Amino acid sequence: MQLARMGISHALFERASPGGQALAANWIENFPGLPEGISGRELMRKFLDQAGSHGVRIELGDVVRVDKHLEGFLLSADGHRIAASSLVVAAGLTPRRLDIEGEQALAGRRFFAYVDPATVPHAGIEVVVIGDGDAAFDQALSYSKNARSVSIAMKHDSPRCTQALERRVRDAGITVLPSHIARRLEERGDRAVITFECGDRETTIEARLVVACAGKERKLDFLPYALQEPDARGVFMAGDCRIGRMGHVAIAAGEGIKAAIDAAEYLRTNGNHLQTGRS
Ligand SMILES: Cc1cc2nc3c(=O)[nH]c(=O)nc-3n(C[C@H](O)[C@H](O)[C@H](O)COP(=O)(O)OP(=O)(O)OC[C@H]3O[C@@H](n4cnc5c(N)ncnc54)[C@H](O)[C@@H]3O)c2cc1C
Repeated sequence: MQLARMGISHALFERASPGGQALAANWIENFPGLPEGISGRELMRKFLDQAGSHGVRIELGDVVRVDKHLEGFLLSADGHRIAASSLVVAAGLTPRRLDIEGEQALAGRRFFAYVDPATVPHAGIEVVVIGDGDAAFDQALSYSKNARSVSIAMKHDSPRCTQALERRVRDAGITVLPSHIARRLEERGDRAVITFECGDRETTIEARLVVACAGKERKLDFLPYALQEPDARGVFMAGDCRIGRMGHVAIAAGEGIKAAIDAAEYLRTNGNHLQTGRS
């Protein structure tokens, strides 16, 4: 949006759903200017409306590779090659795997990681959320609106989330299970059976849906290492992928504006060698 406002030719690529991680956020209460708070979905709808009104067009496409090209870059996305003089990278984070037996086999059916609740049917069923941070508690609250029951299985003996989230989870009647370390996942009929290590014993819990919120990591496979360095010429990083861990929507938005201003300054001082365009 900032690039569009400055009249700079640009292309914005999104491989999944425009809105990113915030689409999965139940309630965002720390975005400035919205004192009542807002759902992640609604805030992202406002972002998209505002971007649209500034003439930003979102290309649905996965950027699979970036190469240095002349004084700029060549991006490969969905069979197309796109030339650009400068890059703003705001690729966020990828969920970290639990690395337990059965995870792959159940993935996408009974097991998901940080999934937008609107995209997974969960009405009237049992849901187990694995994790003990803000995102786990926030996701549990989202599911509790329609699920029959929601439990949070925490690795630690106490939550790692804000007190406000902890209070809301308690008020919503969500069960919080401390010191439950997930070790195995199996499928039994229409259920997942999760085996947890609890101190010196094992226990199992059955649920129709298991959602892991156990950390995210920076994964920029499409970008050569040299272009991931903080001083890479012509590349400007913003948001969670720059920070290297989950941050906040307001920080990502602010950093996006700063990255765009830095890119514009780079183009002004180095010359805009290539017109952004596809072939
Ligand atoms: C459950 C949950 C609750 C949260 N609650 C809050 C909260 O209350 N308050 C708050 O401030 N923050 C909250 N957050 C954190 C917040 O959502 C993130 O900090 C913020 O969305 C980061 O924005 P970003 O643009 O850096 O990355 P993302 O939101 O991850 O966006 C990156 C986008 O890039 C796309 N992408 C990545 N690679 C490629 C590629 N190669 N080609 C094309 N597209 C690509 C991805 O599909 C994604 O849409 C929450 C997050 C979660 C998961």
